[in-house]
Amino acid sequence: MEFLDSALEDYILAHTSPESEILRQLHRETYMKVLQPRMLSGHLQGRVLSMLVHMMKPLNVLEIGTYTGYSALCMAEGLPEGGHIDTIDINEELIPLVSKYIALSRNENRITAHIGNALDVLPQLDKKFDLVFIDADKTNYLNYYHLVFDQLPVGGHIIADNVLWSGKILDTDEIKNDPDTRALAEFNEYVMNDQRVENVLFPVRDGLMIIRKKKNE
Ligand code: SAH
Ligand code: CA
Repeated sequence: MEFLDSALEDYILAHTSPESEILRQLHRETYMKVLQPRMLSGHLQGRVLSMLVHMMKPLNVLEIGTYTGYSALCMAEGLPEGGHIDTIDINEELIPLVSKYIALSRNENRITAHIGNALDVLPQLDKKFDLVFIDADKTNYLNYYHLVFDQLPVGGHIIADNVLWSGKILDTDEIKNDPDTRALAEFNEYVMNDQRVENVLFPVRDGLMIIRKKKNE
């Protein structure tokens, strides 16, 4: 949460349900052992994802960008009976940690972790998804959006993370010179102008774009 002062942030976390012991452990182990631990969703965003999945009750969830599995485990908490998550990451070094925590959380039957470039794996997942969480490489956000759109029923949701990009989304120099910032700016504009969807930019942590599909075309 980068836009609030730390006293408010402390208050918010003190009045948000705590993360489970397993999630706390995964958080700790990620910070000890894995590069770029800031990518992990963390307490507040994890609770938001868990809450949203409880509310949406999606039978099939797709996550693009597993990292160490924190967000997948949070979303798994909210799945309805028979619900399932497919999650994709390109980094095979993450497998041992992800598998360990999926097992610890007893979610082996509800989470399938795929390893590979999401652009290659996605077309092989011949499935309908009720909720897609986009959180991998920012330059491909629009490609992921287009790839999953037809696999999403009307009434389904897409959530895209980091759409404020630490505030760089307002910086015209960054948009011009930094491919990630530019890609996110283009993604946000595209979604905003897409008549097939309704969208809300939630200012949670680094910005969550929450998108509901209204119609197929
Ligand atoms: N969802 C996680 C954080 C994901 S971080 C959480 O909230 O805790 C982004 C991840 O995207 C990284 O683990 C990175 O390896 C992965 N990634 C980057 N490019 C990718 C690609 N082309 N296909 C699949 N995964 C990719
Ligand atoms: Ca993220």
